[in-house]
Formats: sequence, C-alpha cells, structure tokens
Amino acid sequence: MSLNWELTEVEEKLISNEFKRIGDNTYLDHAGSTLYAESQIDASGKLLKENLFCNPHTCKITGDLVDQVRYRILQHFNADALEYSVVFTSNATAAIKTVAETFDFGAQEQGNFYYCQENHTSVLGMRELVKTSNKFVLTQPELLSNLENGHDLLAGTRTGNSLLVFSAQCNFSGYKMPLELIEVVQKQGLLKRGTQISGHTQTNEPDLNNFYVFLDSAAFVGTSYLDVGKYKPDFFCVSFYKMFGYPTGVGALIVSKRGQSVLLKQYYGGGTVNIAMTRDNFHEKRVGFSSHFEDGTLSFLTIANLLEGFSTLERLVPAKEGKNTMQRISKYVYQLAKYGYDKLSALKHANGQPLVKFYNHNGYGDYKYQGGVITFNILHEDGAFVGFAEVACLAAVFDIQLRTGCFCNPGACQWFLQLSNSDIRKQYESGHICSDYNDLVDGIPTGAVRVSFGYMTRKQDVDKIVSMIKECYLSSSEERLKHMDSDKLPKALQHIPARLKPQLKEICIYPVKSCGAFKVTDSWPLTTTGFLYDRGWMIVDASGMAITQKHQTRLCLIKPIIHDQKGSMELTFTGMKSIHVNLEIAKEQLDIINTTFCQSKVCDDLVSGYDCGDEVGNWLSDCLETPGLRLIKQYAERRAQTGSAKDIALSNQAQFLLINRSSVRWLTQKITTEKEPLSTTVDRFRANLIIETQTALEETEFDTLTIGDTEFKVDGFCTRCQMICIDQHSGQKTAEPLRTIAREFNGKIRFGIYLSLLKVPDNNAQISCHDKIIIKKKTIE
Ligand SMILES: *Cc1c(COP(=O)(O)O)cnc(C)c1O
Repeated sequence: MSLNWELTEVEEKLISNEFKRIGDNTYLDHAGSTLYAESQIDASGKLLKENLFCNPHTCKITGDLVDQVRYRILQHFNADALEYSVVFTSNATAAIKTVAETFDFGAQEQGNFYYCQENHTSVLGMRELVKTSNKFVLTQPELLSNLENGHDLLAGTRTGNSLLVFSAQCNFSGYKMPLELIEVVQKQGLLKRGTQISGHTQTNEPDLNNFYVFLDSAAFVGTSYLDVGKYKPDFFCVSFYKMFGYPTGVGALIVSKRGQSVLLKQYYGGGTVNIAMTRDNFHEKRVGFSSHFEDGTLSFLTIANLLEGFSTLERLVPAKEGKNTMQRISKYVYQLAKYGYDKLSALKHANGQPLVKFYNHNGYGDYKYQGGVITFNILHEDGAFVGFAEVACLAAVFDIQLRTGCFCNPGACQWFLQLSNSDIRKQYESGHICSDYNDLVDGIPTGAVRVSFGYMTRKQDVDKIVSMIKECYLSSSEERLKHMDSDKLPKALQHIPARLKPQLKEICIYPVKSCGAFKVTDSWPLTTTGFLYDRGWMIVDASGMAITQKHQTRLCLIKPIIHDQKGSMELTFTGMKSIHVNLEIAKEQLDIINTTFCQSKVCDDLVSGYDCGDEVGNWLSDCLETPGLRLIKQYAERRAQTGSAKDIALSNQAQFLLINRSSVRWLTQKITTEKEPLSTTVDRFRANLIIETQTALEETEFDTLTIGDTEFKVDGFCTRCQMICIDQHSGQKTAEPLRTIAREFNGKIRFGIYLSLLKVPDNNAQISCHDKIIIKKKTIE
C-alpha cells in the first residue's frame, strides 16, 4: 500500500504520547465520540485552578471569556462575526430542537418543511414541533435540487419561509453531501418532489418561498473543515465532544443574520430578559441574539474549556502545505477509511464470495464526498448476513470499540439495507427496537457495523479490525464460538453466544395424520415411535381408506389441540364449533370397535385402530364436505408387536423429521415470487423438530444429534413432493417452494432429514426446546 499518509511519523508519535490510556484497546467509534488529548485535560485543569470564575451574570470577566469562546468558534468555521452568532446549547440535538421550535414559516404557515431520508433522529423529531403542516421527506436532495441542471426557479417569489435540513456528513455511511446545495436551494428553492408525509401524495410543484437551510453538521465538523465563508448555511449545529472529546454537555447553534430574522422565540428565563414583571404580564427580552436564546445560566466552566480543545487540535495537527488543521484531519481519516475499505474488500470466502457488504454512496475515491467511516455487514459463505450483535461480541473480546445498529439514523439504515416500510414494521413487531441486539429478523439485518476514525487512530488500529474479521469469519463457526466464550462480554451481549449455538426452536406434532400441526415451545414426551400422539389418529373415508392432503388440501385447516390435563384432544376448524375426543379409549370398548384399515391406496400397509365414534365422524364430514368420514385412533399395541427399535406411527416414513430454519431461510431467499413469512414456509415442511443453526444446509452433514439426553441418528434425506406446495395456513396450492428446490438441487427434491431414536427411550423421556444440542458431523473422507 503506497499511500502518502497525511500525518508524518513525527506527528503520529507526538499524538500517540497524548493517548497512552488507549493501551491495548482499539478505539474505532469516533463518530460516536472522539477522544480528548491528555495535555488538553491538564490545560483545562490549570485554567480552572488558576482563575476565579463566577456566574457570567454576576461578573463580566467570565462573561467576556464566554464571548471570547464564541469568537473562537466562529473563527474555526471561518465565519464572519458580523454575519453569524453562536448560541450555546447542551448538544447538537438541543440546537436542532431550538430551530424546530422557533422557525417562522410565515403567515398562514405558508412555508414547507423538508428533511431527508438519511437524517439523524434529532432531525426527524423536528416533525413534531415545526409550525407548518406541510412536511416533506427527500431521498436524495443533491439530485432533487437544480445543482446539475439550473431550472429557472426563483426562491423568494412567495412570502412564506421554507426550511430544508440535511446532514453535511451522514453519520451512518460517512457520505458527505455537496455543500454547494446550500446556495442553490437558498436561491432557487426546491421542487416539492419528496413524499409529503402529512397525507398527500407526491407533487412536482416548485416551492418558491424564501428558503432557509439548516445544515446538520454535527458529524461533519468532527473531522472536516466547514468553511462558512464559502458555504453559508442559515443554521448549523455542533456537539463539541465530537470534535475534541472533552468537554461533553456543550454544543452550539450557529445562526446567520438571515436565519436570525426567522426565529421567533417566546420563552425567556434567567439572563434572557431585560425586564419581567410579576404582577403585570409584561417583559422585554434582551437585544443580543445569543442572549435571547440562552435561557438560564450557561455552562460557563465547560465553555471556558472549549478554548483548549481548539488549540489542542491545532497544536497536534498543525496547518501545513496550504491545508489547515481540519482539512488535514479530514484527509487523514479518509485515508484510514480507504485503507481499511481496500483491505476488507479483498477478503473472500473459500468459494470466492465477498466477506463484507459495504454501505456507502460513492466508494472511497474522494475525501470530498467520503468521511473517515466504514459501515458494513459481514456475510457468510452462502451470502447470508452475519448479525451485528455477533460482531459486537467479537469486537468486545478483541478490545475493539466499534458501533453497531442504526446509529440513530433509521432512514439511512432503511436505504442502505434496502428495507421496505413493511420490513421495518415487521422487525418492530417481532420485538426489535433501536439500539437493541435483535440484529437479524428472518435473516434480514436490522442494522450494521460502523467503524469510524479520528486523528489519533493509527494504521495498526485499522489492521486490528481487519485481522479480527479475517480470523473470525474465514474460520468455522465453532472457532468463532470459542472466541466468544469470554468474560469480556458486556452484560447486554452475554446472551448472544448462546444464540449462535444450534437451537431447537419448535417441536411440532401432527396428532391427526395430514391435519394441522400442534406446536410446542417447551417440552414434549417421547415414545418408542416418536413424539407422543404424533400421527396417533387418521381420517378414513367411507371405503376405509386413509385420506391425505394430496386429495384434500383443506385437511391442514383442521387444527388439533392436545389438552393433556383434561385427557382430550380438541379439533378446531374455522367457522365450526370445535369438538373433543378422548386421548385414550377405555379398555372395555376396545374389542367392540377394533377394526383394520388401509393406510395407503395400495393397501399394503394395514393398520388396526379404533373408531372414535359418530359424533367426530360427522363433524369431520361437515368440515370437509365429504360424507362418511371416520376418525381412527391407531392401535397402540401394534408397535409393540413389530418390536424393532425403529417403530413408527402413521407418519409413513420415519420417527422424526427435522428441518433447519436457516436452510428454509436460504431457500426463501432464492424464491423470487410468492413472498411469504419465513414461518409459513417452515410450516409447509411439516417437520417435528425445527432447529436453527448458523449455516444453511448444515443438517445435510449431520451424523448424529443429541438433544438434551436423547440421541438420534440420521436416517437420510427427506424426499419432497407436491405436499410442500400447500400453504398450511390457507390450504391453497402454490408452485413454490418445490420449483426452487428442484432447481437448486438439480432435480433432486430433498429437504430436511429423517431421524430415529438410537435407544428405546425411558418412560419419562422428554425433549425440551431449551435442551442443549450437540451435533456430530459425518467425517468426510
Ligand atoms: C451526533 C449527531 C447528532 C446528535 O448529536 P448529539 O450530540 O447527540 O446531540 C445529530 N446529527 C448527526 C449527524 C450526528 O452525527
């Protein structure tokens, strides 16, 4: 890599002396908060020790110092002090909120409010406060405006005031918006081509009100030079900890003269009034713009310490060769990002598939458009997503600080992860909320991994994250789990490793052959033939022949419920009153009702059983609109007679059928038509054991499987037929998933595996969804 690094070795050395406390950590969350230098803290302490500061309303010296800091801030942004005013706030969010509360949209609220899809939640929240009902969301404002092809729009032809807010740098991807947009919009306005969120559909009308631009520069100014002499937003905001780490709790809203004319503030408190009468409703606000907005006592000691923040930056990264401090930092962090991006892009799985999926707009070709951020998700060999929580665990083990999730930018997350509104609703309904560790919902990511750099980040920090990813994701999932077996995991992540081990998600039994499933999510007893009551009953027609879903797809709509305590099975069917049958039949009745039936058309498989009576027979005939149906309970002793360890109930094939949810997910991702929820597809396979492992199709390599105390051996693959084309929730026939299985497996229509018990189970043997699963794979010669 022949990069000409922006920082010299000498400079790097000086910088690293200031950050010894990083130690063996790799700090890669500068977009969250950057780090303060040690000398900066010493100088701040000295300032406090050597001065007698007091309330700025009391003593002028402190007040003057605060004003000196305002001036210093304007200087940093090359802003003319006659043109711009600094309002101190507690952070960037408070600055954004102030404008939302006070922006005057003109008479009759004529003006419109525009924000962008890729905005921080601090901006989205403005929707709730702005005093106009015309709110639009723009997807790509840089394309929307007339940046490229100058239309003849002229903002200011109407008297209302419109407000556009956009991020100078996206805190999700690190994309930097072309700041030329500011002037273009101020002069020409916008086409109302965003989606209006307050009801109406898209329009294409020009908005020619007076246009004001709020630049959310909170992320941008952390590592870039905002030259307000060149680009003149009406409003912009800063959180100082994002620039130099310390102090926290102070930010600023910086407003141009033009912007000042459209903020109407009502509240006053503390130093913001000249006079406020108590017994008369009279007050007069102070004249100065800033003092008007700074209610109460400023955080004056904190503000005093900002001076040291600015000078530390300039001391450690001095202006050089025509570039000022922030321009150099901007170039350096971009170089680190490009370096990391190039290294990560080169990582490939053994099958040639890329290991990392990146989220950015323009790649890493130009530091004008890309900041020091890499946002990505890791992919498994088959292209499935690795959940970000798992990466967060590994990062914790490797002492790497990075950020996962959506970083308070749900719109960017939606855009880059290509989520539809309904995907997001589904993720929310399944329990995912911002900043939790529900990283994948049905295989679709809810967020990403972000690493971001500061001027004190070193190349070896980037190497560290690259080698962690390489070491962990180019190896087996077992290796990865070993890494995670660590006491270094923070509390919030301690449940993640267990999630990565194979899990039994659901036990399904099918009490009546070919009818609906009875699902169990805790535990269920075992018998020599499989799960207790699985295929214990079947329905036969007037000729004594068993009926199946092949001929009667509506059978799946008959849903049995086992009431263990009551000793009964309830059969349900939409629109019908349910019916109960006894789980066991009294001894004395046995002889009277014992008969023999054909289990299949060929009748080579005779089954003896008991007829469950007229009432349930008539009920079934009504459900399926077929006269003469009977419910037959399998004669339990039959199993004992055959005597082999591989006894089976009426299920035809094997004792147990196992399906891996990860494999079904893999399959559904290959299906382009007929989208349905993953669980619906899983249900089509009518399995008894539904497991989830890290890798799709892993079950094809299983040799034996132990769930809790019960050992199973694999009897082979399950060959599939038309039955899986019946949606078990509607009884409708579809072309999928059979078509895709046939295509993906070259005509071999197999999916899922058959299992049988290795030993006759004990009397009280049970299987629980909380049981630990141990898998032995076939050894490949
Ligand atoms: C960090 C950030 C904010 C919010 O800053 P706070 O300090 O949390 O108020 C807003 N917008 C962007 C783009 C940010 O990166």
